[in-house]
Amino acid sequence: MLDMMRALIGTPSVSSTNQSLDQSNLPVIHLLADWLENLGFTVSVEPLSNHPGKANLIATIGPSHKGADGLVLSGHTDTVPYDEHHWQQDPFKLTEKNNHFYGLGSTDMKSFFALAIDVASRFNLKDFKRPLTILATADEESAMTGAQALTKKQFHHAKYAIIGEPTGLTPIRMHKGVMMESLVVTGQAGHSSNPNLGASATEGMHKVINELLKWRDDLQRKHQNPSFAITSPTMNIGSIHGGDNPNRICSHCETQIDIRPLPGMDIDTLRADLQKRLNNILSIDSKLTLAHRPIFAGVPAFETAANAKLTQMVESLTGKKAEAVAFGTEAPFLNRLGLETLVVGPGNIDQAHQANEYIPADQITPYCNFMQKLISNICIK
Ligand SMILES: [Zn+2]
Repeated sequence: MLDMMRALIGTPSVSSTNQSLDQSNLPVIHLLADWLENLGFTVSVEPLSNHPGKANLIATIGPSHKGADGLVLSGHTDTVPYDEHHWQQDPFKLTEKNNHFYGLGSTDMKSFFALAIDVASRFNLKDFKRPLTILATADEESAMTGAQALTKKQFHHAKYAIIGEPTGLTPIRMHKGVMMESLVVTGQAGHSSNPNLGASATEGMHKVINELLKWRDDLQRKHQNPSFAITSPTMNIGSIHGGDNPNRICSHCETQIDIRPLPGMDIDTLRADLQKRLNNILSIDSKLTLAHRPIFAGVPAFETAANAKLTQMVESLTGKKAEAVAFGTEAPFLNRLGLETLVVGPGNIDQAHQANEYIPADQITPYCNFMQKLISNICIK
């Protein structure tokens, strides 16, 4: 297991929307493919179209032709970028210190694959009555293009999925979604002494922001979920840029917003609502135009029912009640494929996306024991 952790962490696979930092995940995929093929898994490496150097891996063991109620153990192969100056040790060298294993991706979430493969190797191929699938995705940390490329056909043999993101071994059945939108008001520049010479984009943006805040109030009044620490959907008006000089009419103003919808709120519907509201506002002044653009496709909110079979099974195996978290995962994409999905993994989210990321050694054995029982319950019994 440690050898696998060492090899995975030693194989860089940063994903970033910044092209100069973005790396291929194929070297990690090939490591996993080799190990899984050796165990008797049928391995399929699925390149992402339009994303050269990126691929998902789907590896299945057991009677995949029989039944449709197998288990998927899922993780992402990429890491966030790193800042070497803040690391006290080489981010690509698994380092054990004070009962912690340090390394980039140690907790988020390369170790998960080493643990899952180690646990899978404890079973006998002929004992599988239902298939076990290990899924490894690309680009979770950037645009989730790997998860978005998955299709129902690839998982016709599975019914349940566990994503091993770091949750400190607590099962998670809900998280909010995230969407980020850019709104640009375009007007007409002119000398400030005569307003008739132009059309002020900053004044148009003032109306846009007023409407955004009204919309936020409406959304928060309509949608509440007491399972979350912040019980309502949120909207952050994160940036605004416009104009260049006090004596010039501003011709261009952009704001960027972030919205965190609750489960049950659909991203496409929200986008359509936003568009409709803003069209109404600016149509009053025909000299101004508004362009609305999603900054990325967005991650839907995620919810698996409290009384779902997997929720109850995992709650009883971990002895912990399933909770809601603030961070996003690939779970909504797996749910969309008809897989009952929970997020539960070793390590803590507080150590993810940081220098000196580590996985606590004392969470490894309990998590392996949990996976062993889960595989046994779903695939063997
Ligand atoms: Zn992650």
